[in-house]
Amino acid sequence: MADPTTATGGDVREVIVIGSGPAGYTAALYTARAQLRPLLFGSSIFVGGSLTTTTEVENFPGFRTGIEGPDLMDNMRAQAERFGAEMIDDDIVSVDLTGDIKEVTDSEGTVHRAKTVIIATGSGYRKLGLPNEDELSGRGVSWCATCDGFFFRDRDIIVVGGGDTAMEEATFLTRFARSVTVVHRRSTLRASQVMQNRAFADDRISFAFDSEIAEIKSENGMLAGVVLRDIFTGRTRDVDATGLFIAIGHDPRTELFAGQIDLDDEGYVTVVSPSTHTNLPGVFAAGDVVDHTYRQAITAAGSGCRAALDAERYLAALA
Ligand code: FAD
Repeated sequence: MADPTTATGGDVREVIVIGSGPAGYTAALYTARAQLRPLLFGSSIFVGGSLTTTTEVENFPGFRTGIEGPDLMDNMRAQAERFGAEMIDDDIVSVDLTGDIKEVTDSEGTVHRAKTVIIATGSGYRKLGLPNEDELSGRGVSWCATCDGFFFRDRDIIVVGGGDTAMEEATFLTRFARSVTVVHRRSTLRASQVMQNRAFADDRISFAFDSEIAEIKSENGMLAGVVLRDIFTGRTRDVDATGLFIAIGHDPRTELFAGQIDLDDEGYVTVVSPSTHTNLPGVFAAGDVVDHTYRQAITAAGSGCRAALDAERYLAALA
């Protein structure tokens, strides 16, 4: 339970949004336009969410020549602010969402109260943990074939991973690529048999089993290939590639809510589909923190809109 002595003057908001990606900003936009005075916490170091780590976004509707990820997020934020949404670039470090009045505590220990909370904290792609990886994001290194596959026409591409996502990405990328090499640390894949069969049947996909990426090479700020290491012998070899897709999973940012909000086996917030209601009245969840499947900016924004409308209806029923 948060310490009420540090609360912000007893002011109880209608809506607090946690998360500053497309889901959070869209929820803030809709609730602001509904005169609900939303307060959004958008993280201290990662304001604007996942799209701030990429370059060109070509598949968000409304931008006929595409838009840089950080610009798209700045626009979304400014649009919500224009209607009165308040933004605080800080992390929420603890929550008590169980009562009628929800309490969230920021990193300075200030408690903020609201009748509804929209969780839009997103999920993080797992990384290889190699030096060049972040720097080359959007410059040859990607975590999303749906997002970036189109940029890789006639390229030699490496996909890292052995699960369903890796097989799906590899198969999808053959629409664009000259060749796709799947790199997997084990001698067998984890993917379902049907996904494996599809990948094995595709002669543009080859496999490097018992192998890991030892080094990511760059030239003029772009990916220039990788060094593969054999897990058993330690022997290394250079592989030319101008695309590296990392498909080793993602982690929803839900540690904060565990024990209060129902999570599924993989840690995603469970909602009463197709709504955004969680198990707790007045608490809604939207975007990649809920979504195993689609994980796109437009789907996150769409569910942020749904969460705002759900919160609005919940508040109307309280009145
Ligand atoms: P996010 O964008 O992840 O935002 C969540 C935010 O919440 C983050 O800023 C996080 O720091 C913040 N947060 C988390 N916990 C707290 C807390 N406790 N307190 C305060 N704030 C918190 N999709 C496309 O449609 N097209 C593309 O071209 C595309 N390219 C991509 C490229 C890259 C490199 C990546 C990583 C993703 C890409 N995606 C793309 C996917 C897209 O970015 C995501 O699907 C989308 O951003 C998810 O939105 P979200 O609002 O759910 O979460």
